[in-house]
Amino acid sequence: MPDIFVVTGPSGVGKGTLIARLREGHPELALTISATTRSPRPGEVDGVSYYFLSDAEFDRRLAGGEFVEHATYAEHRYGTLRGELERRTRGGSPAVLEIEVQGARQVRDAIPSAVLVFIAPPSLEALRQRLVARGKDSPETIEQRLAVAVTELAARGEFQFEIVNDELERAVAELDALYVSERAR
Ligand code: ADP
Ligand code: 5GP
Repeated sequence: MPDIFVVTGPSGVGKGTLIARLREGHPELALTISATTRSPRPGEVDGVSYYFLSDAEFDRRLAGGEFVEHATYAEHRYGTLRGELERRTRGGSPAVLEIEVQGARQVRDAIPSAVLVFIAPPSLEALRQRLVARGKDSPETIEQRLAVAVTELAARGEFQFEIVNDELERAVAELDALYVSERAR
């Protein structure tokens, strides 16, 4: 089984930023592209940011057992396709999944060797500020995501590792050290 890393935590906490920084130093680490039924944001490209699927297509793939994990998040569906994970880990490459909490639990159950890392914000207010500063979501969507974040933060203790993304450089260093030590195990 190749090394599978799961980075989870609330929307806006910095998962994408941390993974991008980690991968700069570790080009062998593949990032799986998820499938989703939400609409692309401006600038998002199908097959690069996500595989954008219709509800019917998502259902069809779900019925076919094509998802390693999947979840409904803020009224849209998201999931990791088995074929995508297999493609990214072909030849033994490590892979990282950037997913929300319900999906992370499913990966933990399906792939017991997976390394799970919960990224926590320094506070809910800091999380709100990041969602606003990112400038990608409407005020309504931001409030919806913050409401989900409260539930997600309650699950933080379920995961093997937790990193508080307060100061970015410190959090990047912590994630990097964790990746290196888990790869060496
Ligand atoms: P996620 O992938 O978890 O939704 P992002 O990586 O998109 O989160 O980060 C959300 C916003 O917060 C981005 O604008 C990002 O630049 C910013 N950000 C990430 N980490 C930090 C940090 N440690 N301090 C302040 N802002 C941060
Ligand atoms: P966004 O709409 O901001 O791109 O993503 C919303 C949430 O869904 C984020 O927390 C993100 O990590 C999560 N997410 C993205 N892809 C997947 C996936 O394949 N599975 C699951 N379970 N969550 C995902």
